[in-house]
Amino acid sequence: MPLNVNTSVFRQTVIRGVLAQPVGFALTFADATTEQPDAPRPDPGRWRMFWMPMSFVTTYNELPFAKIAQLAEGATTADVERALARGGHRSLSDFAALISPAAAPFLETMAQESHALTVKHFGKVMRLFAPVYLSNECVNNCQYCGFSRDNAILRTTLTVEQVMTEARHLVAEGFRNILLVAGEHPKLVSAAYLRDCVAALHAAGVPSISIEVGPLETEDYRPIVAAGCEGLVVYQETYNRDVYREMHTAGPKKNFDWRLETPERGYAAGMRRLGIAPLIGLWKWREEAIAMAAHAGYLLRQCWRAQLTVSLPRLRPAAGEFAPRYPMSDREMAQFVCALRLTFPHAGIVLSTRESARLRDGLMPLGVTMISAGSHTEPGGYTGAGSDKLHRTERGRVVAVPEISSEGEHCCAAEQFVIADQRSAAEVAAKLRALGYEPVWKDWDPALSETRSPS
Ligand code: SF4
Repeated sequence: MPLNVNTSVFRQTVIRGVLAQPVGFALTFADATTEQPDAPRPDPGRWRMFWMPMSFVTTYNELPFAKIAQLAEGATTADVERALARGGHRSLSDFAALISPAAAPFLETMAQESHALTVKHFGKVMRLFAPVYLSNECVNNCQYCGFSRDNAILRTTLTVEQVMTEARHLVAEGFRNILLVAGEHPKLVSAAYLRDCVAALHAAGVPSISIEVGPLETEDYRPIVAAGCEGLVVYQETYNRDVYREMHTAGPKKNFDWRLETPERGYAAGMRRLGIAPLIGLWKWREEAIAMAAHAGYLLRQCWRAQLTVSLPRLRPAAGEFAPRYPMSDREMAQFVCALRLTFPHAGIVLSTRESARLRDGLMPLGVTMISAGSHTEPGGYTGAGSDKLHRTERGRVVAVPEISSEGEHCCAAEQFVIADQRSAAEVAAKLRALGYEPVWKDWDPALSETRSPS
């Protein structure tokens, strides 16, 4: 049985374990000494402590970030060759070597293995999804986001019927996998409202529904799951506590640990797809990548019934005009994709329309398994739904109701960020076919969760 080791007595063992164990099993290392017949056994009180449920926050707090970051920055050619030769289960140290500057000359080798692994585990298919933005109201201030409370932008929240208007547009385009996105606003985007949106989509025959909204309690997720939602996406934004504090200056999002534990709460409520990511550009990408890899390893182990996806969203221009502080080049992004695939052969890798058509086309064969297409990042973006309730806010207060016209500046709500790949869903699907991939519009069927057995 695995032990969740959480005491200073075993800290050094933990650190060695995290670095050396296959990432997918980073938390399985039962300290060998406790399994030996002659080894001293902890007293019953301490056993209880060991067996208490633990969240990734505990693991995160134990991670030797400085040491792993040093590995990622200072890996040698020999470290990279060792990581490449490993095959099978790669460790966090291997992952660090694969994203290091020393691995850059090995990109072609990595790309070939990454492609082969992806085809082996996923086939030559690409899953397509589209976001439906429900609301751009938000009680948080995130320095990098267009929806930040203090930004003076046009806002609206769709009614359930307006959500369906947007969804019907996407269904007509072919989508069967819809991601509901909203700013964090407990009153306007309540758990009950989310449940009603999901239920309406489900009743209309949309088989794959996920949410990317403000974190909720487990009990609040349950009715949403019961209504037909299987997926929960929550980006940690940055895994660096200090940067997180600096970026999130107001609202409930300031709580780093609460956000970090969100996938586990969703899983406890029955979510069967979990998506995580850092927002690339806020902090050094290699450190973010390592933290996300540790998080992914934890979730693969602890939330084994769920399908895990990881994303690589890079900051895009948005209201507020926040500029990325730590940019990542296209080539580094390709290296990141390959390192993820080589370390997590079974994890889904998501690439959104934040990236240009050219880069997306180039990354598709390398390890990406899921992409958005033809996206809008504003509520009502596909059909104009919700424009009847447009209003401008400043520091969370409505300051003026703009004249509504069918064209011009005041016709629609503000977008969260500017997308880069402007192609329609049909154009993206055609490109996929040209690359030899089958576009798949449906990502999940509830029957899969009934037939899947423990591994
Ligand atoms: S990132 Fe999310 S929580 Fe932060 S301002 Fe934007 S919508 Fe709100």
